[in-house]
Amino acid sequence: MSTADLLARHRAVLPSWMMLYYEEPIEIVSGSGRRVVDAEGRSYLDFFGGVLTNMLGYDVAEVREAVERQLRTGVAHTSTLYLIRQQVELAEKIARLSGIPDARVFFTNSGTEANEAALLVATNYRRSGQVLAVRNSYHGRSYGAMGVTGTRSWSASNLSPLRVSWLHSGDRLRGLLSRLGEQEHLEAAVDDLREVLATQTSGDVACLIAEPVQGVGGFVHPPDGLLGAWKKVLDESGILLVSDEVQTGWGRTGEHFWGYQAHDVVPDLLTFAKGIGNGFALAGVVGRAEVIDSVSAISFSTFGGNPVATAAGNAVLDYLIEHDLQRNAARVGAVLRDGLRAAVADRGIVAEVRGKGLMLAVEFVQPGTREPNPAATLRVFEECKRNGLLVGKGGLYGNVIRMGPPLTLTEEEAREGLEILTSAIAAADAG
Ligand code: PMP
Repeated sequence: MSTADLLARHRAVLPSWMMLYYEEPIEIVSGSGRRVVDAEGRSYLDFFGGVLTNMLGYDVAEVREAVERQLRTGVAHTSTLYLIRQQVELAEKIARLSGIPDARVFFTNSGTEANEAALLVATNYRRSGQVLAVRNSYHGRSYGAMGVTGTRSWSASNLSPLRVSWLHSGDRLRGLLSRLGEQEHLEAAVDDLREVLATQTSGDVACLIAEPVQGVGGFVHPPDGLLGAWKKVLDESGILLVSDEVQTGWGRTGEHFWGYQAHDVVPDLLTFAKGIGNGFALAGVVGRAEVIDSVSAISFSTFGGNPVATAAGNAVLDYLIEHDLQRNAARVGAVLRDGLRAAVADRGIVAEVRGKGLMLAVEFVQPGTREPNPAATLRVFEECKRNGLLVGKGGLYGNVIRMGPPLTLTEEEAREGLEILTSAIAAADAG
């Protein structure tokens, strides 16, 4: 059956609001390393990794064997009513790596649920339904997570269980805090927090939830140190800091293991998802015992941290650390970032090449302005695909190309992708 047939069947039975990439969507049928093959037999170098989720790449023997070992026991699922050895082992590792003292870990199936759990814990601990969030953020698709999502195109409902007040994002191109120097930006963002607390809340706020680098928002990030500067203000009234590390975790930013570490702070709660399962549904929240344990009723996730997912998670985490993929992200990410900056920074349609490690973005504008240019972005996106490179899109205005390749990306592959990207951008710039 052809891809076109599958697309027709997809459209006939799945919701219209499930976005598909590309004018001619593809079905990925196999993969190895950083490469995938579609149903028509075309091969692609994958710089998006299923949205930063295939963190080790495709067909990793260590992960496959760990999952197969678990499946051979005959037990794919038991529920959290019973002890799960793989879950306890993974929780011990994540607690140790989190940097959070006396940490407890609650496993879920998705980043949305992880953030939902963080919000549950924070609002219970503080006995408050007021929350601070950041503009241009994305935290998930449930009512709570949508409620703290500051991106119009991802806000499917105005129903929120929380009272949310909004801080400015780290966007350096647009908005009130843009075009400020780093120090001025930090000071203005802290002033903004104080003003929001004083004018929009009754003071007893539960938490601030923030992504160290905004994922869906187009890899926008504030100057290093902002989360720490905010935390000093939050500490004055006991407000918790939740770091959403769903995209920034596990060394992806190259310079650190967690995104929050660029900010001279340890968050009260940290959420993770995506890469840790390398494709298996695994996510969760980490926090100090007194905070996590403030939930006074039973909270239960049937599948959260199930034996198959946590077998994969343990194998992924061990692989990541044994192969020092954080260092690889820093090294190969620098090749890609510096190469991109050198090749395209003076193209009229390119406003900025930004990001950290293997989390890199190019933002497109109308030449000579800061007007978003989603048409050029789309052109680059399709052109990359035509030449065998998968990248992601994002940004508030759909004008950002995002790259979040597997952390195992080699320098040679980075240069190969760079070449495709550079010529796609040149073609879009030529109009
Ligand atoms: N937080 C962030 C920062 C994310 O990028 C995402 C997913 N794009 C989520 C939360 C939600 O994760 P999930 O799709 O697994 O529910």
